Amino acid sequence: MNITHVGVIGAGTMGHGIAQVFAQAGFTVTLVDLAPSVLDRARLSIERSLGKFVEKEKITAADRDAALSRLTFSHSLNDLANADYLVEAIVERLEEKTALFARLDAMTLPHTIFATNTSSISITTLAAATTRPEKVVGMHFMNPVPLMTLVELIRGQATSDKTMEVAAALCEKLGKTGVESADYPGFIANRILMPMLNEAFFAVMEGVGTPEAIDAVMKGGMNHPMGPLTLADFIGLDVCLAILTVLHEGLGDPKYRPCPLLRRMVAAGQLGRKTGRGFYVYA
Ligand code: NAD
Repeated sequence: MNITHVGVIGAGTMGHGIAQVFAQAGFTVTLVDLAPSVLDRARLSIERSLGKFVEKEKITAADRDAALSRLTFSHSLNDLANADYLVEAIVERLEEKTALFARLDAMTLPHTIFATNTSSISITTLAAATTRPEKVVGMHFMNPVPLMTLVELIRGQATSDKTMEVAAALCEKLGKTGVESADYPGFIANRILMPMLNEAFFAVMEGVGTPEAIDAVMKGGMNHPMGPLTLADFIGLDVCLAILTVLHEGLGDPKYRPCPLLRRMVAAGQLGRKTGRGFYVYA
């Protein structure tokens, strides 16, 4: 299958990085978001990231300019009508994702494959919102996308072998390693990561340690490159809560119960780096 035009929906923490890596790999990319301010921020972040690659001599200035020239920023889903491959990276909410998939299904070409960057939501359920469940696949990039080399590839109940092959071949073109996971809540990455982050939230709530102390123990003692609370702020506390809720509801085990402190911080709008405050304060 010849894929030239890639559409990315959602230009937040993940979407702009996904758009960037596809543009760097030579694809024509349309990045869509509803919020104009998000698109402006996405453009700046991509320019900054590509600029850093040039400074570090990982790419040339000509590569940077070529990647930027392949990118279009848009507020309209209509600009995705001719896309061959879509990557959905909107908020981690089932109703919003299914509504979007149903809408895209009605307006895109029959051959278009729908990938979702969901961290935890069932690929099978999202696929059922379309008339092309065999062409729906999970493509779970890691944050920050331009630097992280792993992509989880999730096969829904109806995902075809052909779709899995296309997704795996795209990973290779992006210079990433695809690892296949079955379609259970949280897949592999968040099934294992989120309970650890949740335990760190409980440890803060119970006064076992300060965020600084907990992060220091996990970095220095367990050789983690980033402490769990720094990582949670980086991911976004709203995203962590959404993932834990999917794990809790989907697996039905109380061990996934989201920490009440996490709920309280999200209710207060303290979502981590993206709002300037989470377990830490950011300038
Ligand atoms: P985010 O909140 O930073 O960005 C989401 C963007 O989607 C926002 O800019 C919002 O305006 C836009 N949006 C919402 N509804 C839309 C719609 N109907 N059409 C177009 N745009 C819409 O979220 P994020 O952290 O980038 O997460 C996006 C997805 O990636 C989620 O499914 C999340 O679980 C997953 N993910 C996140 C991380 C992470 O570290 N943050 C890592 C891997 C996967």
